[in-house]
Amino acid sequence: MKTNVVIVGGGTAGWLTAGIIAARHFIKNSSIQNTEVTLVESPDVKNLGVGEGTWPTMRDTLRQIGISEREFLSCCDASFKQASKFVGWLNGKNEHYYHPFTAPSGYGMANMPEHWSARSNALNFESWVCAQGAICEQNLAPKLPQMPEYAFSLNYGYHLNAAKFVKLLHQHCVEKLGVNYIQGHVEQVISAENNDISAIGLTNGERITGDLFIDCSGFAAILIGKHYQVPFKSKQHILFNDTALAVQVDYASSDTPIASCTVATAQKSGWIWDISLQNRRGIGHVFSSDFTNAEQAEEALIKYVQNDPLLVSQNLTPRKIKFTPGHRETFWHKNCVAIGVSAGFVEPLEATALVLIEKSAEWISQQLPRERSAMTILAKRFNKLTLQRWQEIIDFLKLHYLLSNRSDSNYWQEHKKAASIPESLQDAVTLWRTQAPGLYETNQRFELFSSASKQYVLYGMGFNTEPKEATMIGKNEAALIKRLRNETVHSTEKLLSALPTNRQFLSRVLQKVNLAL
Ligand SMILES: Cc1cc2nc3c(=O)[nH]c(=O)nc-3n(C[C@H](O)[C@H](O)[C@H](O)COP(=O)(O)OP(=O)(O)OC[C@H]3O[C@@H](n4cnc5c(N)ncnc54)[C@H](O)[C@@H]3O)c2cc1C
Repeated sequence: MKTNVVIVGGGTAGWLTAGIIAARHFIKNSSIQNTEVTLVESPDVKNLGVGEGTWPTMRDTLRQIGISEREFLSCCDASFKQASKFVGWLNGKNEHYYHPFTAPSGYGMANMPEHWSARSNALNFESWVCAQGAICEQNLAPKLPQMPEYAFSLNYGYHLNAAKFVKLLHQHCVEKLGVNYIQGHVEQVISAENNDISAIGLTNGERITGDLFIDCSGFAAILIGKHYQVPFKSKQHILFNDTALAVQVDYASSDTPIASCTVATAQKSGWIWDISLQNRRGIGHVFSSDFTNAEQAEEALIKYVQNDPLLVSQNLTPRKIKFTPGHRETFWHKNCVAIGVSAGFVEPLEATALVLIEKSAEWISQQLPRERSAMTILAKRFNKLTLQRWQEIIDFLKLHYLLSNRSDSNYWQEHKKAASIPESLQDAVTLWRTQAPGLYETNQRFELFSSASKQYVLYGMGFNTEPKEATMIGKNEAALIKRLRNETVHSTEKLLSALPTNRQFLSRVLQKVNLAL
């Protein structure tokens, strides 16, 4: 029997979900096709069109759905993202730290923060255990040009043009993965006796039936929200940001360096993201309207751009995006599951939205229910896991704010108040004062943020964990730590001299694409 999956929405969530499901279930030129994927997109509702920073998971996603890295880099003006660089988060004085994608050296063998605090307070934690910050400072690529696609010297994700990414996914899904595409505005939901969705009705009168309906309709949330009225849980009392101003800015010249990281610069009532693509930068100010207004936020954004001589700072007209930070109470209801912004969105810090889309779609694709009875069980599991993930995201993002020493505005002060901090995070921070986060931090197999990420943020922000008493194991580890530290010094030097700049790497790749056309 055939399973019909109907996806409503053709933004990044819709097309990534279509690609991930179709790639696993579609067999080209075969009569054994037991899953059909149809994507319906309104001609009247625009995509969000932001969302330009990804995690390293995107490499696996692209590879699995069959897109070549060269094609992707070329079609999406994409570049490499190796880290987030946080500027001014600790005390607002232009100080910075990195949260790189590469784990600390010896991760899993020894708990490096314990050794770092005992030996070297002179060097910051990230530089002591990892080469990636030094590489980012020089705008270098994470790999050598002769390396295979998706392979790396240092772990990486991407910065991409969101509109071009949607276009590439659309074309690939339809032409290579057999996804049916229907342009039409969904205005009606037809229910079965058991209250499942049996079909959706378009404004032109067409009806589309299905077994599983995936709501990727963005903030409209037409199935999970409008139809099923699944409650939305606001998290604004924890994460205050609710508005973004986004602008695209040209480079001052064609050889301006392309940064290897997303730069997140703290502001009085929010922060500014800065994402470097091949041909421009995507810059935006995300802030809380409870603490500032759009005029002041725009002023700070324009000043940020104008202060950078590497940018063209004329004709800046930022686009305003309002959102309520939060997520649905449940994500899979009856035969409808929400993925993307319809399921929730908190804010762009640490770029957690696309990765959650990838992980959710991958989970569904691996376990696509063939029987209605299986769907109810899978829905329960999916809801439990997804809720855990949201809690994990919210705790991790909040950690960035509560560790700050900034006191230049109510915004930063309110972030540190206990009433705004989830109990799970308060517990974790209390524990981390006595022991560094390590491999026993969670017993989840599918955690989003490893203890390595927590270490980078905690010690990047100057957090203090009480030193442990000297132990036998600690003493025996001395030789190991010395070796690991030497390896980091050596690999930093080696990579600094061997890796090309992002611009050199990308020009070479793009030249090859041009020659192939
Ligand atoms: C300021 C900002 C910055 C962000 N930065 C990042 C980042 O760096 N990294 C990251 O991972 N994420 C980021 N995100 C999140 C990211 O943009 C979204 O997760 C991503 O774009 C997915 O959006 P979506 O596909 O769910 O919704 P949308 O892009 O809004 O797509 C919705 C789709 O539904 C369709 N639709 C709506 N109503 C109907 C209807 N009635 N009938 C038929 N179709 C309909 C629309 O036509 C559209 O195709 C950011 C978000 C914001 C707001």
